[in-house]
Amino acid sequence: MSTKQNFLKISSIDSVSSDMALIAKILSLQKKALKNDKGESMYYYGILGDETGTIPFTAWTFSSSLRVGDVIEIEHASSREYNGTIRLNIDARSQVVMKPGTDMEVKRSYSEKKIRDLSLKEPFVTVKGKISGVIEKEKEKNGEMITLYYGNLEDDTAVIRVTSFSRKLEEGETVKIVGAKVSEYNGRLRLTISDKTQVEHADLDFKIGIRLSNISDVKSPISGVSLAAVIVNIGAKSGVIKRCKTCNRKIDDDFCEEHPDDGFYKDLFAYFTAEDGTGYVHCTSGKSSLEEILGLTPDPLETQNITSNQVMKKLNETLLGKPVVISGDFVKNNDSLTFRARTIKQMSEDDLRIVQMFEAEEII
Ligand SMILES: [Zn+2]
Repeated sequence: MSTKQNFLKISSIDSVSSDMALIAKILSLQKKALKNDKGESMYYYGILGDETGTIPFTAWTFSSSLRVGDVIEIEHASSREYNGTIRLNIDARSQVVMKPGTDMEVKRSYSEKKIRDLSLKEPFVTVKGKISGVIEKEKEKNGEMITLYYGNLEDDTAVIRVTSFSRKLEEGETVKIVGAKVSEYNGRLRLTISDKTQVEHADLDFKIGIRLSNISDVKSPISGVSLAAVIVNIGAKSGVIKRCKTCNRKIDDDFCEEHPDDGFYKDLFAYFTAEDGTGYVHCTSGKSSLEEILGLTPDPLETQNITSNQVMKKLNETLLGKPVVISGDFVKNNDSLTFRARTIKQMSEDDLRIVQMFEAEEII
């Protein structure tokens, strides 16, 4: 490549143009397979940054060895407008060269998001909410003991787990977190606060309430959401299951393969499909959420020795075809979202009013 090249800064790319050269750092990178009549081709997309700003990009030719954090020199790129945003386009005419060993300070701009709308597609964001459930843990890092803070952040749309490496999290504090990193861990989204993240005390301009959501509006595994839905199908294997007393795993025989002498206990379990007019989701629920709605006294398994058939009968009578409010967490399983119900209750008159208000707001 020519060293006399005139490199553009990202902040100056503000219109549709072609034949541009720039040096930038890869801030996020994802790939997608595209099928056409010639077969399958791969394209890449993500965000590039330099010391002046960030820009989304699409690349039709890109080395598969490139990674997030790499600094690259790009020649003959073009820009185009897509959904009101300028994107950088790297195509067959463009040249991309990696600059190994180079690092670059990046000026990031973070858009403010509601927790429900967080996704891996936008890995750095600004969010506002209330901190709860704080736990401190000491961990060793590079021979030094550091304190990590774990907690939840909630706003008026959802709840997300937060890990902080740098700043103490205070129970009940309301904060604005600028430049939090979104990642996925064990099928759930998580926010990370590092020393590059800014955390400031903030007054919330919203109220934290029931957090009703349309099923179709949830695209990421976020927690603390309520669905107003109808249960349209109950899984045939719902009922009473056995779990190992030691590892709590569901077992099919009367003993656990790893702890054969430790015995088992019985547990309630149900899976069902909930539909709300915007979409449907497969749900799972355990003892704590089922006991109440099925009218069982606490710990009925020991005292009543209820059978799977009896539970199934009660489930069908109480839930099938009925409007309910289910609260819980979305979890990602094999690329699709399922819902873990923490509570299930029949829709009351009060709930119905809230749902109607919610739907009226949607229309406005
Ligand atoms: Zn076991």
